[in-house]
Amino acid sequence: MLKKILYSLWVVVFILLATYTAKSAQFGGFLDTVENKTFDLRQNMIINSGYKKANKDIVIVAIDDASYEYILDKYGEWPLPRDVYAKVIEYLEAQNPKSIAFDLMFVKSIKSSTNADMALANEFRKFDNIYTAMNMDNQSVELRIPIELPERLRVPVINYSRNIDFDSLSFQNCRAILPEIINATPNIGMINVSRADDGIIRKMPLFIKYQGKFYPQLAFKLGMGIIKENESYEPAKYIIDRKSNLLLNNRKIFMDKDGSAILNWYGPTGTYQQIPMYKLIKAVETGVKDPYDFENKIIYFGTTASSLFDIKTVPVGKIYPGVEIQATYVNNLLDNNFITKANKLITIVLGIILAAITGYLVLNLTSTGIITLSFISMYSAYITFTYLAMKYHNMWFDIVYPVVLGTLVFVSAFVVKYIIKSRDFERQYLLATTDGLTELYNHRYFQEQIKMQVEQSKRYEAPFSLIILDIDHFKKFNDTYGHQAGDAVLKQVATLLKSSVRATDIVCRYGGEEMSIILPNTSKEMAILTAKKICKKVANKMFRLNNTQESNVTISLGVSTFPDDGATASTIIEVADKRLYVSKNNGRNQVN
Ligand code: GH3
Ligand code: MG
Ligand code: MG
Repeated sequence: MLKKILYSLWVVVFILLATYTAKSAQFGGFLDTVENKTFDLRQNMIINSGYKKANKDIVIVAIDDASYEYILDKYGEWPLPRDVYAKVIEYLEAQNPKSIAFDLMFVKSIKSSTNADMALANEFRKFDNIYTAMNMDNQSVELRIPIELPERLRVPVINYSRNIDFDSLSFQNCRAILPEIINATPNIGMINVSRADDGIIRKMPLFIKYQGKFYPQLAFKLGMGIIKENESYEPAKYIIDRKSNLLLNNRKIFMDKDGSAILNWYGPTGTYQQIPMYKLIKAVETGVKDPYDFENKIIYFGTTASSLFDIKTVPVGKIYPGVEIQATYVNNLLDNNFITKANKLITIVLGIILAAITGYLVLNLTSTGIITLSFISMYSAYITFTYLAMKYHNMWFDIVYPVVLGTLVFVSAFVVKYIIKSRDFERQYLLATTDGLTELYNHRYFQEQIKMQVEQSKRYEAPFSLIILDIDHFKKFNDTYGHQAGDAVLKQVATLLKSSVRATDIVCRYGGEEMSIILPNTSKEMAILTAKKICKKVANKMFRLNNTQESNVTISLGVSTFPDDGATASTIIEVADKRLYVSKNNGRNQVN
């Protein structure tokens, strides 16, 4: 049992070392990518289960391929003249929407007329529920001079989390939009994204850092505007706690290492109601009232046309327009269901507990089938748990780390188990063939070996000899010095015998104080010489009986040889035994 515990401990240490090395090497990146894929899978399964319902109030006005064609036909250019947007805004505002956001950047264009630009800027001044986008980058400051952004676009952020640094969301330059708009509204949000190593967008920034100051992301800015209106909550500053949560009234938004929030997806592209831009323009221009219901709606303008290059890859689709990511983001913010990553420590502890149970099962159960079944059921249960935790609690528990750990333990515990088994087998074999007191081979082994010797000698036509010996007057010796002293002598005689013969000779305890030696390939003459040598050695040796006493003993020996004395094991033994008694009868301490 203690050995098993030690082995299990060794397994755990080995696993920890292995994971540590894996984490620090490129393998860690690989595991992260696989983990991300399990996230994608979970998200798609949850969506297919129909549990999550997207917010019905979000409407996307899509500049799709048809709208792009319509705009080029009608206005002869892209971007669309800004006064068209102004008219569209007027049309929409008349229907009391909650807010209007443009996932479009109204940058300076040579084609655009100042009047048209001013018309749009005026709309931003007129309505405080219109939002638009800007983008930060790291363009060379020699090529483009970074502009000074007004303070009202910034947000104060206080970060108490050590896990979050905004390094990858810090920029030195800014793609400015029309100064008329920058000066007209505080409702400008950034549309930078946060991409994983595999190019897939799973999370989105909350704040982007520019020249050391924080600016809100567009969907965040828009969502906060709605929260302000719905919940009368408007924080003076944004606080990120030690556990990496952005605290917003009753909401906690978990922020990943780079300062992004992990999005919870509602479905593939087309989940939100989409109205093609050209239909809206037609309604505006013909003055048709209310073909669509915009009352209290959150209206997001964005491009979905592939030729307008705002197509991304997300967990729920390879081709997914940026505006739908924005819509999902606002939806997450309003429904308070961004994904929270489970604490690393909890995952590690869970992983180790599961691995420990795995190790325990492998080491303690005998049936490989049952072990494998329990292993699979246990990890299936864990994976189901991670699925349910994501579905009902928006929690992301790691799957890959615990499963890889479990599999490593599963395999190495089997290796350990077989090492233990083979060691047990060796020990059992030793127990079955040797005598505990003298450590000589036992009687059973002797019987097996002598039979084998007969067979071998027959096949190779070589002789072999047998010596049987018995300690003289041992009963009396025991009576005089005690049984323990007798045992000590038996042990020392055994050691002396082993050291007096060849490595190939087999020394056995024949029974009581009788011992036997099988000498393969040994003629009668040689065997008698050996027996005499042993007889003399024993007679000359002082045996230690205990700490204070010493004594000498003598032995009597009988020698027989195959094939000279017989053709079977039993006759060879019989002859040796007879000759031993001849030695006894002739006065002991001799060979016959
Ligand atoms: P001899 O062989 O010379 O004729 O006399 P003996 O006294 O040795 O004869 P016997 O074979 O009758 O007695 C053997 C004694 O050996 C009996 C027993 O007390 C002792 N003996 C047998 N096995 C052990 C053992 O494992 N330990 C000890 N201490 N004594 C043993
Ligand atoms: Mg004896
Ligand atoms: Mg005896």
